[in-house]
Amino acid sequence: MAAKQILIVEDEKPIRDMIAFSLRRGGFEVREAADVGEARSSIADRRPDLVLIDWMLPDMSGLELTRAIKRDKETQDLPIIMLTARAEEQDKVMGLESGADDYVTKPFSARELLARINAVLRRASSAHLSDVIEADGLVLDAASHRVMAGEHVVPLGPTEYRLLSFFMAHPERVYSRAQLLDRVWGGNVYVEERTVDVHIRRLRKALEPYRYDRFIQTVRGAGYRFSTRSD
Ligand code: CA
Repeated sequence: MAAKQILIVEDEKPIRDMIAFSLRRGGFEVREAADVGEARSSIADRRPDLVLIDWMLPDMSGLELTRAIKRDKETQDLPIIMLTARAEEQDKVMGLESGADDYVTKPFSARELLARINAVLRRASSAHLSDVIEADGLVLDAASHRVMAGEHVVPLGPTEYRLLSFFMAHPERVYSRAQLLDRVWGGNVYVEERTVDVHIRRLRKALEPYRYDRFIQTVRGAGYRFSTRSD
């Protein structure tokens, strides 16, 4: 397995060097950023496995960077540990509310930091595992955004993917077109209910070669349901 990559965002070089040294010794690959600007381009360039963010940074606070990462759909599941010299409870709460996965107070030992990093990485990878939903051989993997029918990848458009993902997470329940619009399309008022039917048709068509189209069931007068049963 390739070494996990950690991005350190810290403006004080001696501290950054010290952390980088311990992380490398702990078996991690290390990237460094001295401010929020550098951190952002580094993350956009190649996604790290975890980011360590210092609270006090020159161009923007680490708290704001954390919020920005957690707000962005592309990066919201990126694990973050905040580093700070602030030991007060209130600050800890603020750090965690900003979306950080954990919080380490300076001064910390290399051992403590490594333990926290490993714990957060473990949590992150088990969250990915539970993102796999399976129904009678039809497998949806949220981490890779892929749907498999046995050994075949089912090609799906983004809306069909979201629709199937919603259905598989809520099986055996009937949803009206309006409810599907609200839950899958996010209540966009400019989308007509007919649109739901169009995407249901496309989804069925994509699943048809593997005979999984039967799972997408029309419930007359009520809407649609995902079910592996045929009654
Ligand atoms: Ca700093």
